[in-house]
Amino acid sequence: MSVLVFAESQGGEFKKAAFEAVTYGYKTAQVLGTECVALCLGDAPNAAQLGQYGASKVLHVADAALNNFDSLAYTGAIAAAVEAAGATVVVMMHGSTGKGLVGCVSARLGAGSAPGVNQIPTNDGSFKVKKNVFSGKAIAEVELKSAIKVISVMGNSFQPEVVGSDAPVEALAAAVPASRVSVKEVSRVKGTVPLPEAELVVSAGRGMKGPENWGIIEEMAEILGAATACSRPVADTHWRPHHEHVGQTGVAIRPNLYFAIGISGAIQHLAGVSSSKVIVVINKDPEAPFFKAADYGVCADLFDVVPKLNEALKNFKANA
Ligand SMILES: Cc1cc2nc3c(=O)[nH]c(=O)nc-3n(C[C@H](O)[C@H](O)[C@H](O)COP(=O)(O)OP(=O)(O)OC[C@H]3O[C@@H](n4cnc5c(N)ncnc54)[C@H](O)[C@@H]3O)c2cc1C
Repeated sequence: MSVLVFAESQGGEFKKAAFEAVTYGYKTAQVLGTECVALCLGDAPNAAQLGQYGASKVLHVADAALNNFDSLAYTGAIAAAVEAAGATVVVMMHGSTGKGLVGCVSARLGAGSAPGVNQIPTNDGSFKVKKNVFSGKAIAEVELKSAIKVISVMGNSFQPEVVGSDAPVEALAAAVPASRVSVKEVSRVKGTVPLPEAELVVSAGRGMKGPENWGIIEEMAEILGAATACSRPVADTHWRPHHEHVGQTGVAIRPNLYFAIGISGAIQHLAGVSSSKVIVVINKDPEAPFFKAADYGVCADLFDVVPKLNEALKNFKANA
């Protein structure tokens, strides 16, 4: 019995999400009284590093066919690792890769699954996990009764914690099924904090009036080291790129701090951001629904407030 954690990497480097996943797997293994084993697929020169976050060993399937995400190939490799590790719990992050895998892996293993959990499982005779449902308005407790359980964890629910040192890495010779997909090109957004991983997010909506006014939002994001996001109409009208669109039909995020500037707070927007730990709303309409979800609210014209806030943040950083 063990907890197997699939640790995602990109271009041979681990994402922060991989360390979050191993931290979650380590804590789950402690609750279950077992060990946490990490799994790396494709190029992963720093695999041993996962030991620092609680993996007692790392399985590595080095097949180059796994360098790019392919659900069929990844599912085959994960199933082989489950067998090799004798795993009864499989953990992955609930990012775009995890969302694409959790159903495939469960189906392959005949396992029950719980996608998007945000708490460590219980071990009081039953295996239960919690997740937000109904756009964050309710919390569901899900009991998994199958012999193997597959879980994907919401990003930013657990901060990575260093608990040990590098772990031994074992090569795993898994037969990777031939891919039905050929990746022609990978183009990644460069130079900015990726939105799903960001701890700080500065987001703006139609109150900005037009794309030409986004300089003050980008400036705030740069001062804070934050990612930028936007409401759906802003992406639909091409004021901002689609990958910045958050909400029910966009990216669901869970940062520590979410600035909502000139966004009304429609239910579909809140669906993707209401799990943020602290929400700051800047809106000139005191009746804007977002104020009901806010921890801090500034009822004022954003074109007046944001430049002043940026100056204050710059001074604060300069004197910190
Ligand atoms: C099926 C479906 C799915 C959807 N999915 C999403 C989704 O995933 N994400 C999403 O965001 N939306 C989604 N929507 C759209 C959603 O319903 C809202 O229409 C949208 O979120 C509104 O965007 P907004 O707040 O930027 O614009 P608006 O509703 O136009 O609000 C602009 C806000 O800016 C404020 N404002 C204006 N000028 C200033 C100023 N100078 N200073 C300060 N404040 C100012 C206004 O008071 C207002 O509150 C969806 C809708 C549907 C039907």
